[in-house]
Amino acid sequence: MTETKTTCPYCGVGCGVLARVKDGIVSVQGDEQHPANFGRLCVKGASLAETTGLEGRLLHPQLDGERVSWPQALTAAGERLRAIIEQYGPQAVAFYASGQLLTEDYYAANKLMKGFIGAGNIDTNSRLCMSSAVTGYKRAFGADVVPCSYEDVEGSDLVILVGSNAAWAHPVLYQRLVQAKQNRPEMKVVVIDPRRTATCDIADRHLAIAPGTDGGLFVGLLHALAEHGIVDERYADTPAALAAAEGWTVEKVADFCGLPQNDVQAFYQEFIAAPRAITLYTMGINQSSSGSDKCNAIINVHLASGKFAREGCGPFSLTGQPNAMGGREVGGLATMLAAHMNFEPADLARVARFWGSERLAQTPGLMAVDLFSAIGRGEVKAVWIMGTNRQCRCRIAMR
Ligand code: SF4
Repeated sequence: MTETKTTCPYCGVGCGVLARVKDGIVSVQGDEQHPANFGRLCVKGASLAETTGLEGRLLHPQLDGERVSWPQALTAAGERLRAIIEQYGPQAVAFYASGQLLTEDYYAANKLMKGFIGAGNIDTNSRLCMSSAVTGYKRAFGADVVPCSYEDVEGSDLVILVGSNAAWAHPVLYQRLVQAKQNRPEMKVVVIDPRRTATCDIADRHLAIAPGTDGGLFVGLLHALAEHGIVDERYADTPAALAAAEGWTVEKVADFCGLPQNDVQAFYQEFIAAPRAITLYTMGINQSSSGSDKCNAIINVHLASGKFAREGCGPFSLTGQPNAMGGREVGGLATMLAAHMNFEPADLARVARFWGSERLAQTPGLMAVDLFSAIGRGEVKAVWIMGTNRQCRCRIAMR
């Protein structure tokens, strides 16, 4: 029997999996040593072995529909990419990666495109779910960093879920929260969602806001913190957000969000009173025309209240895919250079020196939707699609 430690490829919880092969039969089990799941798997992860058949998979490289060897395929791909770059320049090619890639693969693809092809044109399907969270963190902290861990969820006094049906979308993390609440019944859970989802099963309070009004609820919370005079002095040094929140009274918020005033007031009091509070948010926040601003409205109340950068506290963006964060760490987005560095002169010089590159891209590349448009206009002639639309693990499309 062989046993491989691996990771569930589905949601962003990142559960550790032990995959075993015995007599040609694959079985999986949650990895009890893994810090994300400690042996737990949800039904999707537990069914992984049933998806490992070879049927319908691309088992060999193909060129123009014909089976070829790996050297033939790689040579043809390289020659065609080089021909396009020579004729049209590096901006005529692009990579479209995904949150299903390993961090090391992301790093190599980013290095190839930005460091040696010389264009910034590598973006990822993570762009379509996480770019609001990235922007929110960068605006607040200057870097795309998530200042929380799963232990903070379990160790908090007030867990707020907004735009998140974690019971379905992040099941094992939700199970950890359920267990933590059973262990400490005094822990409060607030769910902010227009719908009554399965996540509400453990909620002490469900705020069924009008769709799209969650930003106003958090701006009003910032105003309430200021009214109570409990704004952290380091945050008070940057008064623009406090000024913007001026006038967002409980009455105004209740009217805006379609909630009873008592519920808004009670939620604000719970947040203020809780020694530790954490806010979990995901696609219901991110996938909005003002998603970045909503992320910052959430981050602001944690900064302002001092419920930040300590155990059980913080603004916690739950990522959608298993390794969206890994890509963000190593620069797998068109708008960043590498390893949290931007297209600034000092960063460009440092990365060019480290990679030994004389062709380093000097400007950001095409973001996902802009990339699709450029392909449609015929400006991008070739795109290498990596690990998204899982029917094709790796495919190069050429115009
Ligand atoms: S919670 Fe997510 S990562 Fe964990 S087993 Fe389920 S689908 Fe996989």
